[in-house]
Formats: sequence, C-alpha cells, structure tokens
Amino acid sequence: MDIKDLWQIVLGEVELTISKANFITWFKSTRIHSKKDGVITISAPNGFTKEWLENKYNKLILKILRNNSPDIKELQFVIGESKPIINIKNLKNPSATLANNQLNFQEFNLNKETNLNPKYTFNNFVIGSFNELAQAASMGVVKHSGTLYNPLFIYGGVGLGKTHLLQAIGNKLYKKYPNRKIKYLSSEKYTRELVDAISKKGMDTFKKNFYKTDVLIIDDIQFIAGKEKTQEEFFNTFNALYQKNKQIIISSDRPPKAIPTLEDRLRSRFEGGMIADIGQPDLETRTAILKNKAEEKKVKIPDDVLNHLSVNVQSNIRELEGALNRVIAFSQINNTIPTIKNIDEILSQIINTPKKMTNCKKIFQTVSEFYDININDLFDRSRKKQLVQPRQISMYLIRKELNGSYPYIGEKLGGRDHTTVMYAYKKIKREIEENNSLQYEINLIKEKLYN
Ligand code: ADP
Ligand code: MG
Repeated sequence: MDIKDLWQIVLGEVELTISKANFITWFKSTRIHSKKDGVITISAPNGFTKEWLENKYNKLILKILRNNSPDIKELQFVIGESKPIINIKNLKNPSATLANNQLNFQEFNLNKETNLNPKYTFNNFVIGSFNELAQAASMGVVKHSGTLYNPLFIYGGVGLGKTHLLQAIGNKLYKKYPNRKIKYLSSEKYTRELVDAISKKGMDTFKKNFYKTDVLIIDDIQFIAGKEKTQEEFFNTFNALYQKNKQIIISSDRPPKAIPTLEDRLRSRFEGGMIADIGQPDLETRTAILKNKAEEKKVKIPDDVLNHLSVNVQSNIRELEGALNRVIAFSQINNTIPTIKNIDEILSQIINTPKKMTNCKKIFQTVSEFYDININDLFDRSRKKQLVQPRQISMYLIRKELNGSYPYIGEKLGGRDHTTVMYAYKKIKREIEENNSLQYEINLIKEKLYN
C-alpha cells in the first residue's frame, strides 16, 4: 500500500475516535513522511502539533497503523516543511492576531559549556507572592555569588518554576562573569556521569572537572536519595567547592528534611544555607504569566481569553503554558483569533476530564517510592517508625481517594483489623491539620498519584 493511502486510512479511523475539534486541530496538515524498516515517520506542520501528536496520539496512531500493516514497529515525528498556514491578507483584523504566520518557536541551543538553556532568564520570570522569596534569594546569589547564601536550596511542586529560576541564575552569572566555570545539571545526569567515570576509571577527570567549577547548579536533587556512592561523591564535591566559596544552587520537589534516605551530613549541609520555597501562583499571577508568554511568542490574544484560560488551568505553570500553546496552534491552523468558546472546545478534554483514576496498587507504588521503602514493607508487621507512617498514609489515601471501607483497606494491607485502619486514618488526618510539612508531603504524593 502506498503511504498516502495508508495515512488516509489512519485519518479516517482517528476521525471516528476523537472529537472533531481535536481532529481538525491536530491532524490537519499531517502526513506520512516516510516508511523505512518498520519505522514510520509522520510529518506535522509545527512543533506544537508534533509534540502533541507524540505525547497524546502516539499509541492510537500506532495501533491503527499496525492493524493495517503489521510490520510497523515504531513511530517518529518530524516537523514538515510548513506552508504558511495563515494568510494574513484574508484576516479581518490582521494586527490583532498573530504577528507572523509562523509560530515563533524559541528553539534555543543549549550552551555546550554550561549546559544552560538561554531561554530561561529573570526578565521573563513573573514574580508573585508565591515565588518572591525564591526569586529574591536567587537575585541575591547573582549579586554575591558564593558568599551570601551557600548553598541556595529552592523547593516546590512540579511545573512551578524551579528549573527556570536555577537556569536564570546560571545565565545571569554566565553573562556577568564569562570566564567563570558554570555547570548546570540534573542530579540524574550527575549520577550518570559519576557511574560513567567509575566504569571507565576516569574518576580523576570527573573530580577535576567538578572541583574546578565556580558555580555548580544541581536540579532535582531528590533523585540522589538512596544512591550511596553518588551521595558520598557529591558530599566531597560540595565540601571542596564550599570551602573555596564557590556557589552551589540546588532544587528539589521538597525540603531537605522530607527527602528520605538523604544522608544526614548532606541534609545538614543543605540546611546550612538558604532554603526558599515556591508555592502555587494565584489567578492574577497566572494571567500575568500568560500575557508574558503570549508576548514572548509575538501572539496577540484578547485579555478575556487569557483570563479564561488561567481560571480554568490551575494546576501549575507548565500546564498553563501547554494550554496556551494549544490555543495558539488552534488559532493558527484555523486562521482565527481565539474566542472563549474556542478555548472551551480546545480545553474540553482537560477541563471536563473526570478526575483521573487511581487504584490501590498505584497508591502502594507511589507511597513506597516516595518514602523509598520496599512496597512489601507496607503489608508487613514491622513497627519500625520509617515504615509505620508510610503504611498509615497508604491507608489514609485509599480511604480518601478511593472511598475504601475500613475492613477493605485492612484486607488490602496484609489483613489488618479495621480498627487499626480507622486509627491510622484519624491519626494522619489529625497530623495533617497540625503539621504543614506532612500536608505538603501528602500533596506531593497525590500529585504523583494522578500524573
Ligand atoms: P519546575 O522545574 O519547577 O518543574 P519549570 O521551571 O520547568 O518548573 O517551569 C515550567 C514552565 O513554566 C517553564 O516553561 C517555565 O518557563 C514556566 N514558568 C515557571 N514559573 C514561571 C514564572 N514565574 N514566570 C514565567 N514563566 C514561568
Ligand atoms: Mg524542573
């Protein structure tokens, strides 16, 4: 079958499966670019659509393709040569819509030396009460690198701006002191580099490389927990830099004391500097962020439409930005200035989706991963403190999120009595009210539960 026909078949089936608005938005101007060795490459008209197809429709497309051509193994997506989709001349009010007929992608290249992405700056970081402390502390670090707050530890939930701030500090310092050695990396990358160095016996180079940095920025340090060798080496690096007044900046999804199996000596090092949190942005700030992003992308969207978006997307800034991107893609493809009604259509999937489902297994997995314990310890009888609380939290969550009855929960947790479950539920409920950090931990777990 020729690839054009194959794609027609896929489109026909997709059209029956998803809503019309979505079909038009995401599948218009797509085609099969090539088919080779079982790999189908699909071409999308722009980066937003490509990303959306990749993340959301990959499985569906692959399934339909395989039904028609069983030898297909894999999908790839590319941005095709895009014909101008919007014809400015035909618009009633061209100045009020997209400034140019191509989406203004900010495809930056990472700086090879620092690993920083120059798109993250202080200039495009919107400040509100939820992040002003973290922002101010970051500016402090720029002004008095190595001497004021060391380390600077920034924590907060997903998609709230930690990476943005960390990289903004790095970018600013890089501009200010081009000769200083600045290094940005995630704790996972740090671990990979270390493992690589050990296996290739390149520890000397590894050490030298890290010990001579002037500014070390480690993102998502929580993933270092439990990795003994990595923590040990990081502790050495930390001390070497700290003693020389070199700036260290760290981010995490939670405060140091809530990272399980973080070695005490590292924890106390982290707590010895400045700790700043990032909370949830309020409505006003969410709208300000959207305005800022729309301006950055050189797209004009009416204020009431932006406001409507921020009322409806509350979870975090990354999702908010994703929603805006979808609106921009929609308006570009359909050649219209978006209205509130359009937005409702586009977002109907997100907004009206009933709460994503969870189940006991997922709760057990998420809780045990979060506290870095073995999942079987949840069902066990051990009274160790570091096991009892995760167990009680599991019970609490099954009750709260799944409406499980006390006897049912007892059964699920290794055949415990319903009174034990009742006690656990009440205890956690009370503790959440009295103890902010437990509340915070449980919110994080819930976030992971539904992601
Ligand atoms: P985190 O690292 O906390 O998960 P990110 O820093 O990756 O979150 O932020 C997610 C997205 O939201 C990024 O595109 C970032 O630029 C944007 N963002 C976050 N906070 C702000 C802010 N205060 N102003 C503007 N954009 C923001
Ligand atoms: Mg991040």
